[in-house]
Amino acid sequence: MYIFKKIFDLQNHLAYQRNQGKTIGFAPTMGALHQGHVSLIAAAKAKGDYAVCSIFVNPTQFNDPNDFAKYPRTTATDCDLLIQNGCDVLFLPDVDEMYPPNETVTKPQYDLGGLDLPMEGAQRPGHFAGMLQVVEKLLNIVMPDHLYMGQKDFQQLAIVRRYLQLTQRPIELFGCPTLREPHGLAMSSRNERLTSDQRQRAAKIYQALSHVRKHYRQANIEQLCQISIAVLEEEPDFKVEYLEVCNAITLQSLQNWDDAAEIVACIALKVGDIRLIDNVLIP
Ligand code: AMP
Repeated sequence: MYIFKKIFDLQNHLAYQRNQGKTIGFAPTMGALHQGHVSLIAAAKAKGDYAVCSIFVNPTQFNDPNDFAKYPRTTATDCDLLIQNGCDVLFLPDVDEMYPPNETVTKPQYDLGGLDLPMEGAQRPGHFAGMLQVVEKLLNIVMPDHLYMGQKDFQQLAIVRRYLQLTQRPIELFGCPTLREPHGLAMSSRNERLTSDQRQRAAKIYQALSHVRKHYRQANIEQLCQISIAVLEEEPDFKVEYLEVCNAITLQSLQNWDDAAEIVACIALKVGDIRLIDNVLIP
């Protein structure tokens, strides 16, 4: 696996690969890699792409400086995992390479059709502007044919899909399914920060989402969410930020099951001081 820290070197290498007729598949990440990330690389390889992964903990998408400081950073084991799984290139820039100190930092402004307003947008002001800023920069650098992202970050995926439509970039986006731990907890870099007891009890998150999904059309949405939140908050260190049943296309919150053809239930909660998100498509 090639590792590049400089944009210039990466671009030279990828230009050469493109000239050899390779298609570039790209999976941007923030590191502390797990099997969920690996599944994105596997999807790129299965498609026949030259697989590029980036690891960059992007400061501009963290609204909480403490969350940024505590975000797990495990570069050496990340490299091992990528090599074991056939990743071709790792792009590993530092902050100055992505945001040169002499360059004015501007966040792109796009009409996201309100996709950025509910849920994560409401709870983490500025998060999606920072996320799009870094995704746009990374796409300009890597210029992939195929982009692989996880459904785990459902709202992020919807926003990037919309961004690609708005900018008419010739990039095909693949939304890859969420990989879970055996008891159901969605794999996440932040799981590393849970105690083993919290990690066991965090299985309740997927149970709560599954409970909502199971009662599709059988129970009132608002009551169902309230009950599920109450069950989760029986755990003294769980605090739910939102649990919403939404139209999976517009991300608008639903009152009635029949108001959308595609539905997703999304949750964000804190387990201790660690913030987790998850979602399931319904039915
Ligand atoms: P992150 O490093 O958390 O920014 O995630 C990088 C990419 O991996 C994003 O596209 C995520 O949606 C995706 N991802 C994170 N967790 C999972 C998972 N459990 N299953 C599948 N994809 C995931």
